[in-house]
Amino acid sequence: MNFHSTRDTNKTKYTAAQVIIKGLADDGGLFVPESIPTLSLSEIGSFCDLDYPTLAATILSKLLTDYTYGELLEDCNGAYSLASFPDGACPLVRVDGNTYSLELWHGPTCAFKDMALQLMPRLLSGALKKTGENKTALILVATSGDTGKAALEGYKNIDQIKISVFYPKNGVSTIQQLQMATQEGENVNVCAVNGNFDDIQSEVKNIFSSSDISSKLEEMGYFLSSANSINFGRLAPQIVYYFKSYCDLLKNKGITLGDKINVCVPTGNFGNILAAYVAKLMGLPIATLICASNSNNILTDFLNTGRYDRNREFHLTISPSMDILISSNLERLLYFISGADATATWMKSLNQNGYYQVDENTLNEISKNFCGYCADETQTKKTIGKYFHDYNYLIDTHTAVAFSALDQYREKTGDNTPCVVASTANPYKFAKDVYNALTGIDSSEGFDSLTALSNETLVPIPDPLSKLRDKKTIFTSVCDKNTMADEIFEFLKK
Ligand SMILES: *Cc1c(COP(=O)(O)O)cnc(C)c1O
Repeated sequence: MNFHSTRDTNKTKYTAAQVIIKGLADDGGLFVPESIPTLSLSEIGSFCDLDYPTLAATILSKLLTDYTYGELLEDCNGAYSLASFPDGACPLVRVDGNTYSLELWHGPTCAFKDMALQLMPRLLSGALKKTGENKTALILVATSGDTGKAALEGYKNIDQIKISVFYPKNGVSTIQQLQMATQEGENVNVCAVNGNFDDIQSEVKNIFSSSDISSKLEEMGYFLSSANSINFGRLAPQIVYYFKSYCDLLKNKGITLGDKINVCVPTGNFGNILAAYVAKLMGLPIATLICASNSNNILTDFLNTGRYDRNREFHLTISPSMDILISSNLERLLYFISGADATATWMKSLNQNGYYQVDENTLNEISKNFCGYCADETQTKKTIGKYFHDYNYLIDTHTAVAFSALDQYREKTGDNTPCVVASTANPYKFAKDVYNALTGIDSSEGFDSLTALSNETLVPIPDPLSKLRDKKTIFTSVCDKNTMADEIFEFLKK
């Protein structure tokens, strides 16, 4: 199976290994497989006998064909081990009636990004070997909180890779700061920066585009790489859990083989919901994909009108991982539906004018598969209260946006098809806001907010967060924006 860029009408070919190393195509487009492999219903039924790592290796071997099944199985066994996912990779919980929650946050950092970031570093390490690359990949991450920790946990102690993470000194929560400062691993570095997230992000971009820095790195035996969610190596692992949720529904007799389900996803960069769409293209019986947004509801507007317009106010919300105005992975959907020519034109318009408008045929095709709903801050908090009080089910702020969207969808359409809601973070990851949603009270930051929420709900605090209390702080450096590059070279000298 070859890959090419979403913007390349000549369809220049790349292997999966090359795609995972490169991340973004040279023309600015995203890599996509040249065709989508399809699975029969009986094959999907037979998946139900497999454990999660075997299922993942089976599905990924259809897409990443330059990896052997044996290599993929070894990587998946390592990524989704009981040590990293003690409760199993992603349990499906029945909340009520036809409403199911796919809990994607049982990994080492309590957020769904673990599902991809536990595996992708292993795929990258394999890709370096396959392509004969003998330099070490240096993963550079600017983070506003969650991605940094998930990337650190994923890349730690992986062959031929080092990772350097920068976060804004006063811009992350106490828990997030502790999660990163206590990170273990021989190949990791963490540094706080005097500045905000945008400062750090723009300096990381400068470093990536500096030929001085890259030639200096090359002399030392390194090249720069990113953990970004546009990498196909991060998207592919997310396809797997939608098949797994379907099997769980079959097993607990929520459905019979061939029945359609709906899927509802709290969306930011459009990666998670796009993975569900790819699962549908592969043959998974999904009827409607419900795209849930917070007050940054650019996708809701797009799905209703076909106009994507980022000229709008940006809102900071209690679901910060969805505070995004450019949902990069939407480009892959446009490509699947309308091809490279149209996609290139729309992306050019987005870059030049800040908006694009798709044609009627494209919008119709999108509407056959997707619908969009959004929840503002009040609706999000109310939903947390409703699901806890009515169903004794505690959800985080991001997942609450999705449950609100599902409630609105059902209210509007009367469609009560069994629905799998992607639950993207453990509620304790956002304890302060979840506690406030339930009680109206502001708790203090840090461990106090964990204790307050557990006293209120009696839901146990997850181990990776409670154990932070006893962890040794390893990283204390603080640098300025213009000394970030020095910090990297210091780290590499160690
Ligand atoms: C990253 C993230 C999302 C958004 O996922 P996308 O793939 O970017 O759409 C939603 N919820 C949480 C908790 C996240 O960390």
